[in-house]
Amino acid sequence: MKRRQFLLGSLASAAWAAAPRNLKIAAVKVVVTNPGRAALGNYVLVKIETNQAGLWGWGDCTCSGSELGVAKFLEEHMTPGLIGRNPMQLEDLWQTLFFLPYYRSGSVHMSAISGIDMALWDIKGKVADLPVYELLGGRARQRLLTYSTASGHDFQEVEENARKLMARGYKVIKAQVATPGMESGYSVPQSERQRTSTEKAYEAGLPPSETWEPGAYVRTVPRLFDHLRKTIGENIELLHDVHERITPNQAVALAQDLQPYKLFYLEDPLRPEHLDTFRLIRQRASTPIAMGEVYVGPWEGLNLIEEHLVDYVRNDLVHCGGITTGKKIAIACEPKGILTAWHGPSNISPIAHIANAHVSLSVPNFGVQEATVDWPPAVHEVFSATPSFDNGYVNVSDKPGLGIDVNENAAVKYPYLRRLRPTVRRADDSAWPY
Ligand code: MG
Repeated sequence: MKRRQFLLGSLASAAWAAAPRNLKIAAVKVVVTNPGRAALGNYVLVKIETNQAGLWGWGDCTCSGSELGVAKFLEEHMTPGLIGRNPMQLEDLWQTLFFLPYYRSGSVHMSAISGIDMALWDIKGKVADLPVYELLGGRARQRLLTYSTASGHDFQEVEENARKLMARGYKVIKAQVATPGMESGYSVPQSERQRTSTEKAYEAGLPPSETWEPGAYVRTVPRLFDHLRKTIGENIELLHDVHERITPNQAVALAQDLQPYKLFYLEDPLRPEHLDTFRLIRQRASTPIAMGEVYVGPWEGLNLIEEHLVDYVRNDLVHCGGITTGKKIAIACEPKGILTAWHGPSNISPIAHIANAHVSLSVPNFGVQEATVDWPPAVHEVFSATPSFDNGYVNVSDKPGLGIDVNENAAVKYPYLRRLRPTVRRADDSAWPY
């Protein structure tokens, strides 16, 4: 073979040589599906199709609590800004869509942008014939430390469930226990009476109501961790999620009371608005603090990073601006030694979980990746992939793009299900955060 023929042959087989010219966004589809028929299981997905046959990208725009608001916003207010544009210019498209509605940021707008951003990265990866993590800098690690939740009615049940997770290989466990006298709480079993009233509310299409008092809760939690350290020992990382359910002073005291148990981190001890109290916690307790899942603007929470008031950023890549913003947040954290712990509950779809993993794999300051690994069969019917789990770690494939596709015919079999989040009330019937 002559040298010129050989070179031409090599070029033809290289992915970049096949990179399409004049690539344009041809259509944007929004799919709302709830394959698990779950209370927090409506997924808002976006598919960006191009003018090249077979080249498309998928993203997750799910904002649990505002699902149909996001779907309508995408169709009416974002899609027209995308049609005919070059999908490779994702940073420009991100900025264009951010400014497009003029009144910008907020949960609906940012969830819409986040999913579009994921879909554009998916397309870029397919064009490059590389997994997205390669475009973000390549694997900085081969697998991602993950955790799961051990919950229970009492300390013994939490301990039993923690032991089951340890037997599966988990090295980090989130521990949550019901508070004596409370019929519900965050991530704990409900009483029979509460379950019945929740079901009735769902049937009526109304938000369920739960009653909550934080005093007994903050007295119970340190005793849970005392029990766990005495029973399951020191060779396991433990964390706990407050879910913003206590007062600022209680948060300071809880961070102090939990110090002896050396938590991996204490999550959402405060409402995000209580910046002064983050400073107080910092001055008075060494318990590591994680924060960020409810932040929706691209730079919300930046002051917590700049002042090093948190140890882990928990931003949700479906709400903060997608892969693009996640990478920027990680870079902002790197000089402080603040680590990433992207939000990864089952109320965001496997597309978002895989996007989380691509960013987590590529950043130097990774901490832990919350991940759902036990999905119902119908989720696997709709989504071609979920992060794989092995002995306490998760991973993703090296397929081009995000490496996940959606079976649209299967998705339509599982339509939107109205299951509103609960309203949480104090005993005097005043409103309180969920
Ligand atoms: Mg949380």
